[in-house]
Amino acid sequence: MTAFLSVDHNPIALEAKTDSVLLLSLQDYSLLHLHKRKTFTPVNMLKEKIHLLAARYSNDMSEVRRHLHAHPELSEKEKETAAFICARLEEYGISYRNNVGGNGIIAVIKGRDPELKTIALRADMDALPITEQNEVTYKSLNAGVMHACGHDVHMTCLLGAARILNELKLEFEGTIRLVFQPSEEKFPGGALAMIKEGVLENPVPERIYGQHVLPTLEAGKVGFKTGKYMASTDEIYLTVKGKGGHAATPELNVDTVLIASHIIVAMQQVVSRSAPPGIPTVLSFGRVIADGRTNIIPSQVKIDGTFRTFDETWRAKAHEKIVVVANGIAASMGGSCEVFIDKGYPFLVNDLEVTNDAKQLAAEYLGAENVVDLEQRMTAEDFAYYSHMIPACFYRLGVKSPGWKEIRNLHTSVFDADESSIEVGMGLMAWIAMNNY
Ligand SMILES: [Zn+2]
Ligand SMILES: [Zn+2]
Repeated sequence: MTAFLSVDHNPIALEAKTDSVLLLSLQDYSLLHLHKRKTFTPVNMLKEKIHLLAARYSNDMSEVRRHLHAHPELSEKEKETAAFICARLEEYGISYRNNVGGNGIIAVIKGRDPELKTIALRADMDALPITEQNEVTYKSLNAGVMHACGHDVHMTCLLGAARILNELKLEFEGTIRLVFQPSEEKFPGGALAMIKEGVLENPVPERIYGQHVLPTLEAGKVGFKTGKYMASTDEIYLTVKGKGGHAATPELNVDTVLIASHIIVAMQQVVSRSAPPGIPTVLSFGRVIADGRTNIIPSQVKIDGTFRTFDETWRAKAHEKIVVVANGIAASMGGSCEVFIDKGYPFLVNDLEVTNDAKQLAAEYLGAENVVDLEQRMTAEDFAYYSHMIPACFYRLGVKSPGWKEIRNLHTSVFDADESSIEVGMGLMAWIAMNNY
């Protein structure tokens, strides 16, 4: 036993000692029995192997992340990103199919008895139209484009997990499907396109996992939430039409600015008076264009906003309500209002069993003190589409550095991730994927 343990702690010799697997400790037996896991090596030793491989690859994977961060590409334009991922997969000896649903890639790692089941792991690939302000060596080289939502970290962690899983493929049963998904940040989202091209078919994965950075959570920690976790999201576009004219002759005009102001205020009643109190709902307008002058009333005003909630019946009703309120107010003031609602992602639901299993596995891998419970949030994700089709878990990876005084929030020009999170993220993904039972 002593000899075996010393071998097992030497990462170079990990693969060689399959005979020694017979030397199980009582604790290993009980863990295997308890979780009905079908891993080849006892659970604790397997965990140690993954920790060792994640540590071994962490510097290399930080380089991968820095390359991806320095070369961000917008939604639907992830060509170089995809080529880079394909090159890494080839380097690791992992087979893949590219150009799935645009620039998406599906890679496959077959364990023992690959037909037994399939588990899917997903990372998104696209960046945002933001100019990076961080003065770092890996600062974005693409003007006006930045990985400000951490998708560079997601791709890196999935590549790292792929590397570990490929190295340990004799240790688990079934097939791991790696999904590199483009265009998460832009409607209609790359998830739908990949689903249409069969990412969840032949065979249907039993479970799918997604890992996303969380800037408020310290690196080294991860977070989970069962049930409804992220909101549905729709883009609301209103065009108020009236009669423009001299600001000093209101009696000759139909004042679009005043109509727009009334509509914005009244819209808040859709949330405060019509939304079922138990269903979180947000209606926010972030863009109002009334391009007149101090003395000119414009003939149209544009109002753009977002509607988010957690219930499909209420969502449909709210859309109707928005149209009725906008039209009604505009008509009552002599104008009109065109309403266009671009229906986006559904709410994201984390399967109870899959998420509880993942949370328990995270506690085993990182220690219970590094696993936190998350609150529901009004942000949205196109991972939601997967979550409505197969049991899913979308969890969070802490990326906050202990030295950072301010939160470097997602979708800002100062977002960054503590790179120690990469070792955690890739190891945990591999650990979760291998321990499905
Ligand atoms: Zn984002
Ligand atoms: Zn994101």
